[in-house]
Amino acid sequence: MIPAISPFRPTHPIPYGRQHITPEDVQAVTEALQSDFLTQGPKVAEFEQKFAEYIGVKYAMAVSNGTAALHLAALALEVQPGQRVITTPITFAASANCVRYCGGEVYFADIDPVTGLIDLQAVRQLLESQPKGYFHGLIPVDFAGLAVDLEAARQLCDEFGLWLVEDAAHSPGGFFTDSQGAEQWCGNGRFADLSIFSFHPVKHIATGEGGMITTNRPDLYEKLLLLRTHGITKDSAKLHRNDGGWYYEMQELGYNYRLPDMLTALGISQLRRADAGLARRRALAARYDAAFAGMPGVRPLAGAPGHAYHLYVIQVADRKGLYEALRERQIFAQVHYIPVHTMPYYQDLGWKNGDFPHAEAYYARCLSIPMFPSLTDEEQAYVIACIQEFVNQQ
Ligand SMILES: *Cc1c(COP(=O)(O)O)cnc(C)c1O
Repeated sequence: MIPAISPFRPTHPIPYGRQHITPEDVQAVTEALQSDFLTQGPKVAEFEQKFAEYIGVKYAMAVSNGTAALHLAALALEVQPGQRVITTPITFAASANCVRYCGGEVYFADIDPVTGLIDLQAVRQLLESQPKGYFHGLIPVDFAGLAVDLEAARQLCDEFGLWLVEDAAHSPGGFFTDSQGAEQWCGNGRFADLSIFSFHPVKHIATGEGGMITTNRPDLYEKLLLLRTHGITKDSAKLHRNDGGWYYEMQELGYNYRLPDMLTALGISQLRRADAGLARRRALAARYDAAFAGMPGVRPLAGAPGHAYHLYVIQVADRKGLYEALRERQIFAQVHYIPVHTMPYYQDLGWKNGDFPHAEAYYARCLSIPMFPSLTDEEQAYVIACIQEFVNQQ
């Protein structure tokens, strides 16, 4: 029985996140389908250029999904079997898996319980516990849309000789404020060697499957272009020989990680609404913040002016109880994330429960509640009322 807490009743399930597709989006894809190009047409370069402008970075390369972006990042940075790379346990598995694809070893550093982000102090301790050269790279994640302090991460990486890849899947449009007071947008290439984005439907910009890699480094960009398409080039300046007009060379072992033209057409159309979507996410977050400030049993993760709010995460003592109570009321909250080091695959590699106490304590309490631009004020009020009701019963 749903008690009379709010006059509003949802007519359909409310998920934690969802894509927003407009008639303009449909039109853009239809036009692309009717063009001469289904895969590598002019829309790909247009999307890359517009995305690069939006983020404020020199180079952007579209790929088939965010996981492919991470894989190519690891390949471009030449992760070798046995090399050690550090990431956070509170992320989607792909942030760690990309290292494994190349035969590297994944290490984790615990999170800061206030922000949910990798704790750079814990990273420093890990780095200092071994001789220099022991670790090769760091992959921090702008978890939930909160930007990692990449300036601090870069200093740490430089001190210990690591490369830096930012997993910005949650944070297009997000930023942190650097030591000079400047806003540094996620993926802008100022501090990270490479940044990656995902265009999975729950992310800010949806293309179905899709991803992007951004960088300011021309050397890495060149390498990525080659790796995206089988390691093949037709660029006459780069060929070892030239047998004629048909001639191409495969110079590296690459992949087919291309994003098709019709999906980039959707991406371009979605990108036009990125600012509006971000503004709506921030407005929803402000309303949640205000509501939960008055609910002692509910603790949201820390906010920040540059937060991009891919997720809105609260922490409660009885997480499973709340998850189930919300489901009964048509609200489909989700858990982000089950710590990666507790996955059977990573436990087989030697990681154990108890290795990262902050991540595990966070996991025991966290719940991502609805956060997406088309969530209406009424729906959000209903979500808040249902949480309030649950907390009151505790
Ligand atoms: C979604 C996501 C990815 C992977 O993106 P896909 O496009 O689904 O492959 C990587 N890292 C994080 C943090 C993500 O949320």
